[in-house]
Amino acid sequence: MIDKKFNYTAVSDDCIKCGKCKSVCTIFQINQDETTSPRGFIDLLGAYERDELELDKTAKDIFESCFLCTNCVEVCPNDLPTDMIIEQVRNDIAKKYGITWYKRAFFFLLRNRKIMDLLAKMGWVFQTCGLKINHDKQSSKLRLNLPIEMIKDRTLPFADRTSFLNSYPENVTVNNPKMRVAIFIGCMGNYAYTNIGKSLLYILEQLQIDAFIPKKQLCCGAPAYFTGDFDTVDYLIKQNIEYFETFIDDVDAIIVPEATCSAMINTDWEHFLHDQPNWMKRARKLAPKVIMATKWLEDNTELKALLCTKEKNIKDIVTYHDPCHAKKMQNIHKEPRALIGANYEIDEMSDPNACCGFGGVTMQSEKYHIAKEVGLSKAKMINGTKANIVSAECSACRMQITDGLGRTQSDVIFKNPIELIADALR
Ligand code: SF4
Ligand code: SF4
Repeated sequence: MIDKKFNYTAVSDDCIKCGKCKSVCTIFQINQDETTSPRGFIDLLGAYERDELELDKTAKDIFESCFLCTNCVEVCPNDLPTDMIIEQVRNDIAKKYGITWYKRAFFFLLRNRKIMDLLAKMGWVFQTCGLKINHDKQSSKLRLNLPIEMIKDRTLPFADRTSFLNSYPENVTVNNPKMRVAIFIGCMGNYAYTNIGKSLLYILEQLQIDAFIPKKQLCCGAPAYFTGDFDTVDYLIKQNIEYFETFIDDVDAIIVPEATCSAMINTDWEHFLHDQPNWMKRARKLAPKVIMATKWLEDNTELKALLCTKEKNIKDIVTYHDPCHAKKMQNIHKEPRALIGANYEIDEMSDPNACCGFGGVTMQSEKYHIAKEVGLSKAKMINGTKANIVSAECSACRMQITDGLGRTQSDVIFKNPIELIADALR
């Protein structure tokens, strides 16, 4: 039995109902309904704890409509953890209503890398039968356009022939290395967007840094955490902690080219383990060495100076989207811009900090109509710039933004900043 980290009534009592969070709330901007706003969620959770509100299907629907974007946390004068109390109640929802079969199947695969590898390989073999693949945009569309909201006209990622983790040896070394870092690649970077890892290895080689690719790394647990499947989260975190401890003293950092995985490992693992002090201590010890790739490269290497010796790319114009888990959770926004800006013109969109609307597995499946609306708004912002490339250090944002751009018939393509940097170095 997991002890609850947050007391909903205490959070609700601390809410001064100032309403500052409403105007920035991703779901409130769509629904314009106080019930699905940060202070609405907080109020309802207080009532739920006092047994004045049943966790019925309406309440479930309300609590599952939060994008966990943390926009509200950023502006709240009392720093109320709306995102974390929603994550907490989603575990109650999962216990009461169970977890849908396809999410259970997905989380089973996240726990079992070998079976996931096999399925990804089979997916690669057969995907051309069902998918029209666009290699330039690293995306695909279903050949059969079924009239189902969740998949109709949807732009999707596709599996690469070989995963990143299975493409390289465990140690990728250089002569006279200056440092040694481990790479945590994330599930989408491992199976779909494999050029991110390839580009990162190229950058490290140019900087004379040895790369260690920990082959037994598992998913960071974020998809299961946002869905309330705490058994899966517990399993993944502990497996990863035990494994990371075997090499953490031999590397300068574990670098992660994915905002969500990085924030999950260096921040949310500790929150999740709040009632398991020994494990929490172990997670806390690892956390300072787990850093987003652009942040680590900008702070610890001569990468920017090296980029400045390269040609300025006047052909491509980039607009940068701030992933919620990068800017709001880790305060990382200047570093990717500093590195990209060395070689590319940057044209900022009207609100780079606005959530793209990915929102997690439930939002992408059962509530896709809301995710789609937020994604369209982000795509319009991107299309309003001069950019032909949109970048963000997050593959969940990539999947969502590519879908939004597809719906607006945009020619803008998505690249992770690590891919842009490697292109500039080449
Ligand atoms: S996390 Fe985002 S969507 Fe959820 S309540 Fe806060 S601002 Fe709204
Ligand atoms: S900003 Fe914070 S204190 Fe103000 S209404 Fe929102 S949650 Fe409550």
